[in-house]
Amino acid sequence: MTDHRSDNPEICLIFPCYNEEEVLPDLLRTLETLDLGIPTRFLFIDDGSHDHTPNLLKEACAADKRMACLSFSRNFGHQVAVSAGLKHACGDIVAVLDADLQDPPELLQSFIAKWRNGYDVVYGVRTNRKESWFLRICYSSFYRLLDRISNIKIPRDAGDFALMDRKVVDVINTLPEHNRFVRGLRGWVGFKQVGVKYARPARYAGKPSYNMRRLTALALDGLLSFSAAPLRVSAWLGAGAAFLGFCYLVYALSLFVSGKDLPEGWTSTIVLILFLGGVQLMVLGILGEYLGRIFDEVKGRPHYVLRDQTGWLTEVDEELSPSDKTAT
Ligand code: UDP
Ligand code: MG
Repeated sequence: MTDHRSDNPEICLIFPCYNEEEVLPDLLRTLETLDLGIPTRFLFIDDGSHDHTPNLLKEACAADKRMACLSFSRNFGHQVAVSAGLKHACGDIVAVLDADLQDPPELLQSFIAKWRNGYDVVYGVRTNRKESWFLRICYSSFYRLLDRISNIKIPRDAGDFALMDRKVVDVINTLPEHNRFVRGLRGWVGFKQVGVKYARPARYAGKPSYNMRRLTALALDGLLSFSAAPLRVSAWLGAGAAFLGFCYLVYALSLFVSGKDLPEGWTSTIVLILFLGGVQLMVLGILGEYLGRIFDEVKGRPHYVLRDQTGWLTEVDEELSPSDKTAT
């Protein structure tokens, strides 16, 4: 397979932004002076922000022709924003970064060096986390669990911060799923991948929009989209409960045969009902999670709706094929 890797590639940095007015001025200042040694473009995805983010981005796009912005009609979520960015990004290399400066853009220098050495995906691996100990335990258990039960290799402690070769981005763009867990899709694609360790700083300003509910939803997307193991767990749980029930039956029968009085029965009945009921509900819940995801997929709705686009996107739009213009 021939590699299209050019000596002077162009890179496109994607930033999903949701209510980032507090951090945007600093981010834009950092980007203005950022020198990666190769032609660089920036693509912001305004994920339905309701603060001054859209205006700030529009001004930035008007002032700097390397910048462009896609605006969603409402908030569609971080993973969808990243996917939209990948769809509209140009260039030979595409990088995904958080807008809150938690993924230092300067680090891309070393990512690009790895790309030049032949790697197609270079992702950041967090060596430290500035989150609370509780969140840190949650993150680390999640990555370890995912690693154990998923069908594909999803690197531990790697987020969406990554640089990808054009061919990887093109493959990700063809993946149709709605429940998008981008770092999982990135792992699924394959090719040559490598992690680069970095100490993740705390959010520069503003508040994180990932609360416990959204983090749980993301974790479920990751676990259920890349593994059927939970379905198997439910079958094992069911089998375990049935086995316990059977043991109890044997015990009761042996008491009956040896002529001993059977226990009163009330407590054991309640315990069994609660236990079996709990297991059944849990299994149904797991089935429901998968079913809900299948339902999302079969509806076949677009992943996002665009309100407008500014900056270089309007210039390169004519060069894109018609299929690229439709939101997917
Ligand atoms: N973000 C987004 N849509 C959302 C939530 C977040 O585009 O619905 C963006 C946000 O602006 C930031 C990135 O996704 O650039 C990561 O979000 P956040 O900092 O809240 O997450 P954390 O760093 O805590 O994982
Ligand atoms: Mg953040």
